[in-house]
Amino acid sequence: MVVKHKAIFKTESPWSNGKGVLLKLDTGSWRTERPVLDVSKCNYCGLCALYCPPQCMFDRGDHFEANLAFCKGCGICAKECPRGAYKMVPEGEFANEG
Ligand code: SF4
Ligand code: SF4
Repeated sequence: MVVKHKAIFKTESPWSNGKGVLLKLDTGSWRTERPVLDVSKCNYCGLCALYCPPQCMFDRGDHFEANLAFCKGCGICAKECPRGAYKMVPEGEFANEG
């Protein structure tokens, strides 16, 4: 079954731009960790966006930010970041957010 979803952003990532073919499945509430960025460590190299499997990073002009509607919490962005700018944080720490 193919779940259709209209892409929210025009530029989710460097190479899925324009088609948004990979952004089909909302993550919902099952992600156990989320990537949190320390912008001061980021040099805008783009590796996190390049390696993100669902291509859910979008370009903020001086850094890449995970679109949490589609982020699966795999941690690859944090693993690949050469500057340790992304850190995976348990979802429980955001339990009180609206
Ligand atoms: S890989 Fe790290 S340093 Fe490079 S853009 Fe992503 S967060 Fe920034
Ligand atoms: S945790 Fe995985 S899915 Fe989420 S932004 Fe990082 S690489 Fe992409």
